[in-house]
Amino acid sequence: MRKLIVRLGQTKSVIVITLFSWLASVLVTLGVVFIFSRFGRIQDIASHLTIASLVPLILTPPISWFIIGLFLRIDQLEVKMRDAATYDSLTGLLNRRAFMEQGNYLFNLANREHFGFSVLVVDLDQFKTINDKFGHAAGDKVLESFGKNALEFSRKSDLAGRLGGEEFAFILPNSSADQAWTFAERLHEAVRKTIVEHENSEVFCTLSIGIAAFPEDRLIDIEKSLGMADKAMYRAKENGRNQSVVYSESMGTG
Ligand code: GH3
Ligand code: MG
Ligand code: MG
Repeated sequence: MRKLIVRLGQTKSVIVITLFSWLASVLVTLGVVFIFSRFGRIQDIASHLTIASLVPLILTPPISWFIIGLFLRIDQLEVKMRDAATYDSLTGLLNRRAFMEQGNYLFNLANREHFGFSVLVVDLDQFKTINDKFGHAAGDKVLESFGKNALEFSRKSDLAGRLGGEEFAFILPNSSADQAWTFAERLHEAVRKTIVEHENSEVFCTLSIGIAAFPEDRLIDIEKSLGMADKAMYRAKENGRNQSVVYSESMGTG
């Protein structure tokens, strides 16, 4: 019902409701006329049907216009509120809470359906310097453009989220370390090539990426797997930034 009203929109919904109320009014009137005519009490059917038609045709449109309008506004508000609670407004990626929620769901699904996944933690390099040199607004533009790249390069079935500040994460279901590496390389290349223009300046940025891969027989929960990818990301920073590192057990867990 709700989907139907949203799909039809205000005008068409009002027309449909008006037609229904007119039809219901006419049918009820005919029923009453039929019952009363058995007792010989009704003579003028035409005038009864005229009233039965006029009342819904006059009253239903303004009343339903108001109610449907209110309904559509509440529906839009609910969609907006749900989006605000799920997505980060600057980058358009999942916010931390939604990312963890959907990540945990994906982990449970992977356990049940026996598929592996890879986790990537991505941190923008020397971001504080970008803010200091070009201003906070320029930093925001860089984050925004990263969000666009992240959405363009990830699949619909991947999870892409902003963990906070200039730190992001991806979960790629059914992807090996090699596949995650290829994804990370594409992301590196896209971000390196992206020029963010701000007040006659060109702002560039690079990424440090940590990758942790979990085959179907060695699944680890999202919290811990993010911790492992984080360790690999810090190794990428130590190695000079602007690169990816795949997690190995020698880095420790958590
Ligand atoms: P590193 O390469 O080691 O990661 O260095 P970094 O400068 O990127 O890391 P650091 O943690 O020192 O600084 C992160 C900066 O990101 C500091 C903070 O002000 C900035 N930041 C966090 N959130 C936002 C935001 O929403 N907008 C902008 N413009 N800056 C942000
Ligand atoms: Mg950083
Ligand atoms: Mg950081």
